Amino acid sequence: MDTRHLYVHVPFCARRCSYCDFAIAVRRRVPASEFVAAISREIDLRLPGGAPAGSLETLYLGGGTPSRLGPEGVARLIDAILGRFGLSSGAEVTIEANPEDVDAASAAAWKRAGVTRISLGVQSFDDRALRWMHRTHDATRALAAVHALRDAGFEDWSLDLIFALPREVERSWSRDLDQALALDPPHVSCYGLTVEPHTPLRRWRERGVVHEADEERYEADFLEAHRRLTAAGLIHYEVSNYALPGRTARHNSAYWRRVPYLGFGPSAHSFDGNERRWNEREYAAWLSRVEAGEDPVGGREQLPAAAVELEEAYLGLRTSSGVAVQPGTGLLFRQWSDHGWATVVDGVGMLTPAGWLRLDALAGALTSVRSRY
Ligand code: SF4
Repeated sequence: MDTRHLYVHVPFCARRCSYCDFAIAVRRRVPASEFVAAISREIDLRLPGGAPAGSLETLYLGGGTPSRLGPEGVARLIDAILGRFGLSSGAEVTIEANPEDVDAASAAAWKRAGVTRISLGVQSFDDRALRWMHRTHDATRALAAVHALRDAGFEDWSLDLIFALPREVERSWSRDLDQALALDPPHVSCYGLTVEPHTPLRRWRERGVVHEADEERYEADFLEAHRRLTAAGLIHYEVSNYALPGRTARHNSAYWRRVPYLGFGPSAHSFDGNERRWNEREYAAWLSRVEAGEDPVGGREQLPAAAVELEEAYLGLRTSSGVAVQPGTGLLFRQWSDHGWATVVDGVGMLTPAGWLRLDALAGALTSVRSRY
């Protein structure tokens, strides 16, 4: 496979956020050398022969918290990857960073290492809400991080924000949007809070300490973000993502186009266009298999045709690229347009923000109608 898109999962975090169920490894001291060596080993195990394995259009270091590898660790990780993969001209190289890891020195080092884009996990500018989330930064640190990125010459950066927090947190989403917009971000990702199993948030909800935001407030927050961010010139190009023209996230866009990608590190997924596989989720299990010279695969699947169709409908509808209106689906799109859930332009059906709030149901309905033709 000529790899164009590569993901590396860096699992380390300082602590677990109250809502997070990602595959992470909480470490006070991050074993950066051990991790980089293991990623090199995994690449060699899965792509034996040592030959160049593709020219990357996007490289994404996600997590966990990749910025916890430190400036040198990130540079060594990128070097290790580029020992086997080339980079296309103009490639996008993204690192997810938490504000507390961003200062003038780290931003300059990432720039030297070839990073072109930073996804900054701000989540809120309300210190009380950040403490409730168990985040390890405060609003002052988030603002300093943005200034450090700008001073280092990064033009491509994104703010991650979370909406629909429980009412007990008393967070003002409007005020957070004000503060985000005051920074003139080229890209913003907005995610609605969900209560996942095995998280402190789930336990708090079970004890009645917090109450999940109801559907009305979830919708109100989502639509307020749409209204405010698009008024500032950002394009709502995917259900959770907004960007200035030319600043869309190219790596994630590849996932939404369902093109092949490779993933390394614990829990990382890969897709060859047919089969999806994923690695051992836990860091210790992934590491011990890699160090023993084994492919750390944790599972694999080939979706049946019906599931592929549902996935294609879901992926198409979640972005502003939409889906082609085919024979048989015209009536459905007309009904959705009447409800204000979709628009059809030149034979392409796209969901509106009101439609995105019903994405799962609409993707299911589209697949069901398509299956009859
Ligand atoms: S920093 Fe991100 S990955 Fe780490 S615990 Fe918090 S939400 Fe999860």
